Amino acid sequence: MSKRIYIKDLKDFVGGEVFISGWVDVRRDQGKMIFLDFRDMTGIIQGVILPNYVETLEIGKTLRNEFVVSVKGKVNKRPERNIKEGILNGDIELEIMEIEVLNKSITPPFDVTSDGKEIGEDNRLKYRYLDLRRPRMQKNIRNRHKMAKFVRDFLDKENFIEIETPILTKSTPEGARDYIVPSRLYPGNFYALPQSPQQYKQLLMAGGMERYFQVARCMRDEDTRGDRQPEFTQIDMEMSFVEREDVMDVNERLLIELVMKLYPDKKIQQIPFPRISYKDAIEKYGNDRPDLRENKEDPNLLAFCWVIDFPFFERTDKSDNPNTEGEWTFTHNPFSEPIKKHKEQMMKNEKIGEVLTSQYDIVLNGYEIGGGSIRAHEAETLRKVLNIIGHKDEDIDKNFGHMLNAFQVGTPPHGGIAWGFDRLVMLLENEPNIREVIAFPKTGEGKDLMMDSPSPVSSKQLKELSISFTKKE
Ligand code: ASP
Repeated sequence: MSKRIYIKDLKDFVGGEVFISGWVDVRRDQGKMIFLDFRDMTGIIQGVILPNYVETLEIGKTLRNEFVVSVKGKVNKRPERNIKEGILNGDIELEIMEIEVLNKSITPPFDVTSDGKEIGEDNRLKYRYLDLRRPRMQKNIRNRHKMAKFVRDFLDKENFIEIETPILTKSTPEGARDYIVPSRLYPGNFYALPQSPQQYKQLLMAGGMERYFQVARCMRDEDTRGDRQPEFTQIDMEMSFVEREDVMDVNERLLIELVMKLYPDKKIQQIPFPRISYKDAIEKYGNDRPDLRENKEDPNLLAFCWVIDFPFFERTDKSDNPNTEGEWTFTHNPFSEPIKKHKEQMMKNEKIGEVLTSQYDIVLNGYEIGGGSIRAHEAETLRKVLNIIGHKDEDIDKNFGHMLNAFQVGTPPHGGIAWGFDRLVMLLENEPNIREVIAFPKTGEGKDLMMDSPSPVSSKQLKELSISFTKKE
């Protein structure tokens, strides 16, 4: 087999013979001639089997949409009247000489040449491998890759390194329920899937890595709701020897460069990104993720802003006991450092409700696309926060002893952030939900319709894990 040429490169072979491989995108049988559009990951080319290719015409008659083929043909200029301006290969076509069928296709359950919006989502998710063939999904997934690559290259240049952290880990309070994994070797014990790499990335700072990032998968067992996914991707990072402004600066530069390079048609409304205090955001906009766009009709307008100075603590629900004010809980991240001028107050346990955290959220067009903070890096500070939110000392030692120990052997000051990557891709691709930018998403109800999961496991597996359960009625 001669070298395969990608469809996007055919223009360089006008007058020559080439081999291409791909799918039959559209077939128009005119009897004496058959027109076939072929598609590979780089584009589409129109081909034609002329009447003199008798054997090839016979094969052409058997072809249907989504057959996988390899084609030998001549690249010809189209006659002037057939030229289609402004589309890839609009001025050339393939004179088909030979066709080899590499795989057939039954009639697909839906059309993959449209944008897919007319097809029920459950059906699209059930046959996701087909759905991914449509140009819109190809574009979304490929642009997602470009963004991740841009982020990797940018952070690499800024002296960050990418480090993988464990998936089988221990429960971290991140504000959601954990997914847990039973241990076969230690019956009755469980790993937790990470809600984020929060503790590991801080321990990497204790480990002298200084600048870490990861395209990290996070799992949170939250109640299913429209645009949530049980697992999602963060661009997660952590830096040593930094203050709030340093983390914000690197991230702001990264976002601006990413938009300018990959989405040159988009306009960032304001640079530097405006900074709004939580208090002002609530007073002025009624929420802490304000949509600052001056023109909400413009799909290419990006209004980024930072929201800062959040309260560190809030009262928990007091509905259980109306006579108490409720206990304190953290608003964002229990591993954060309060802002400098409130540290003493927090350490003395005074006016806890007024203590502000070093948390910063990055907001785009009304969506929170990321958040982070400067962390407590001294054992007493973290212990204090955990005490305030109701942890007893012995539980703290048991659950967070590794953090406290690390903080006692020279952990530098550090801070970081994580972006909700799916959401950012969704917004930049002007998609209505994150499922459109994830290759294999679950439904809003947390199901993988293609793999049919979650699903029961065998009684043998359960026995090995020492698990028995009673079925809910
Ligand atoms: N771990 C935090 C989160 O997942 C982000 C951070 O503070 O870096 O929201």
